[in-house]
Amino acid sequence: MARRRIIAGNWKMNKTPSEAVALCAELKDLVKNDDVDVVYCVPAIDIVPVAEAVKGSNVHVGAENFYIEDKGAFTGEISAPMLKDAGVEYIIIGHSERRDIFSENDVLINAKVKKAFASGLKPILCCGESLALRKAGTYKEWIARQIKWDLTDVTADQVKGLVIAYEPIWAIGTGETATADQAQEVCGMIREIIKELYDAAAAEAVRIQYGGSMNAGNAAELLSKPDIDGGLIGGASLKADFGQIVNA
Ligand code: PEP
Repeated sequence: MARRRIIAGNWKMNKTPSEAVALCAELKDLVKNDDVDVVYCVPAIDIVPVAEAVKGSNVHVGAENFYIEDKGAFTGEISAPMLKDAGVEYIIIGHSERRDIFSENDVLINAKVKKAFASGLKPILCCGESLALRKAGTYKEWIARQIKWDLTDVTADQVKGLVIAYEPIWAIGTGETATADQAQEVCGMIREIIKELYDAAAAEAVRIQYGGSMNAGNAAELLSKPDIDGGLIGGASLKADFGQIVNA
């Protein structure tokens, strides 16, 4: 079974609502590709105008964060039903910036993954090692542990609809990309872990992205690897290069 490629932009804390609409217009023709799931994961305030701007196109809308309760006294937070109602399909969970800057741990990340599935949102679950762990040679154990913790009590059927983004922290926003072989090594290992935790069908179905300074120049080689089913793209998702990545 061929897995469908998924190219997702993580806009992070960039673009005001009017800038977001302008970027959608700039990318409109560049991201056309019926064989690829294209996703814009945008700041909360941009969700409604972006959903309107991409209506009728091949672009799906994603969010960058949410909280696990449906409503109530959680000042500053946004819920899964709110995202769903606004047209969101995908949700980034466990990004290294949320783990490191906002102290999100694997208990909360696991709760978010379960809540996303229960709410009909498709999680893009991020994992990845620091430069220190890469240099120490313990990165595989670290990533295996993240995956096991973050998928606690998630079912095999749910995993078939999951996207996992392998994002080595040392390659995020640094201009330094993992080589295609380094990225494949870990993405292949992640698929093996899914097979051990679940079964062959779940491992075959789960989509695994690489993220970390992916750009128009290196995307084709990374995406040619057997266990890399797409990309999660930060910086290059904010410019025309994103269209080249979608069509790489
Ligand atoms: C990211 O933040 O998910 C990311 C991969 O960023 P960049 O492409 O800028 O390295």
